[in-house]
Amino acid sequence: MRLVVASHNLHKVQEIKALTAHLDLDVVGLSEIGDFPPVIEDGDTFQANARKKAVEIAELSGELVLADDSGLEVDALGGAPGVHSARFAGESSSDEKNNALLLEKLQDVPLEARGAGFRCVMALARPGGPVELTEGICRGVILFEPRGTGGFGYDPLFFVPEYEKTFAELGSQVKNQISHRYLAMQKMLEVIKQVKKPAKAVDSN
Ligand code: IMP
Repeated sequence: MRLVVASHNLHKVQEIKALTAHLDLDVVGLSEIGDFPPVIEDGDTFQANARKKAVEIAELSGELVLADDSGLEVDALGGAPGVHSARFAGESSSDEKNNALLLEKLQDVPLEARGAGFRCVMALARPGGPVELTEGICRGVILFEPRGTGGFGYDPLFFVPEYEKTFAELGSQVKNQISHRYLAMQKMLEVIKQVKKPAKAVDSN
């Protein structure tokens, strides 16, 4: 059985390949199976965006498709930047600009009120079939200045108390065992195992 990951991000595709290696599943990235128009992520929720990506690509490709959407939700900002995480500082924003804006908005917020969570929603869709959704959340604290050089996005500001390190200091191996994406993927693996099961033979007696 083939699973198309609705992403051009090779790192993401590689991560999902590693997590499904034991499943006898042929995992391929979007760019490996053809040219597809970009899906406009205009939903108000991670669920809406993940679902839209999975359904549109499943209809266009005729394949089983996995899509995800993720971002950072900061308690003191009422859950912002949320679905706008990638473009928090504007359309032409960068990780640096997004992090600078986050620090600016939290400048008067004390450490005990700087709680935040990374959230990831995954959607699995078949053409014309039902859509399955799973979610993973990783909680942490937003620091007052960046620490560490690994990862991407808000990783240098996202401190995980249990490890006393930011995501950017943890390294990808540890991050990939506790992250929101990992947790959502673990739940999705259970769904994929069910989808992979052969249909029950009809009892002829
Ligand atoms: P996407 O779901 O890959 O499109 O991620 C949306 C945005 O959320 C990214 O551009 C980052 O700003 C932020 N984000 C999502 N996951 C992570 C993460 O693991 N570390 C840091 N930032 C993240």
